Amino acid sequence: KDVITAKDVKLSYGSYEALHGISLNFHEDELTALIGPSGCGKSTFLRCLNRMNDDIENINITGKILFEGQDIYSPKMDLVELRKEVGMVFQQPTPFPFSVYDNIAYGLRIAGIKDKELIDQRVEESLKQAAIWRETKDNLKRNAQAFSGGQQQRICIARALAIRPKVVLLDEPTSALDPISSSEVEETLMDLKRKYTFIMVTHNLQQAGRISDQTAFLMNGNLIEAGKTEEMFIAP
Ligand code: ADP
Ligand code: ADP
Repeated sequence: KDVITAKDVKLSYGSYEALHGISLNFHEDELTALIGPSGCGKSTFLRCLNRMNDDIENINITGKILFEGQDIYSPKMDLVELRKEVGMVFQQPTPFPFSVYDNIAYGLRIAGIKDKELIDQRVEESLKQAAIWRETKDNLKRNAQAFSGGQQQRICIARALAIRPKVVLLDEPTSALDPISSSEVEETLMDLKRKYTFIMVTHNLQQAGRISDQTAFLMNGNLIEAGKTEEMFIAP
């Protein structure tokens, strides 16, 4: 089953065409790696999938992106609803400068959840899912920015998961981390990838080979090749 379908997506920044017509399907509960050299359009394409680049001046996007069959660029699309379903994790861990608890609760409150017990329950559940509960359960009031980089990134993953999205977009989620933190984040994603649809930008070919189900190669704004990771990477 396809959760997101992109059809002939073209994107220009002013007169500069950064994406030349990308068609790609993202399958339910799989992890897709978007890979390719710097500047090839990976982030640009990723940000189309939850309309993160709508506000850029002079941007022009054509083609179609369907989320569960709905055209996300249709005027009827509710952006708040879309972003509840399609969450985002960035390269730099970006917890808000307040407690771990409030980092997670913030998004839940915006999503309209007011019940304290339900919030407590979701905070615990999402921190457990992101494999950061052990390090945070006795420190929920501690400022999230006081944790290590890898811990902060897992807090950000927990924050994204707390809303119970269908899809999580990740833009080079490990490239700002040290190798140990990076492999902890990879393990977290591997444990979760049968429960969520992940779409991850990476420039690390080995990482794509280790953790993705589908790999898509971009170059100069074109999709060069896409397929099952196990068929694309030949074991050494
Ligand atoms: P990647 O993620 O593969 O490194 P990007 O998607 O960030 O590539 O960028 C693709 C191309 O689009 C690059 O040439 C980049 O300079 C350009 N670009 C990205 N964002 C903008 C923007 N806001 N305005 C103009 N050009 C941009
Ligand atoms: P990434 O680490 O994902 O490759 P970049 O460092 O390329 O991101 O870009 C960081 C930010 O700057 C992004 O929001 C991107 O849209 C914007 N940007 C990138 N290239 C350009 C450009 N040529 N002109 C204007 N903005 C750009």
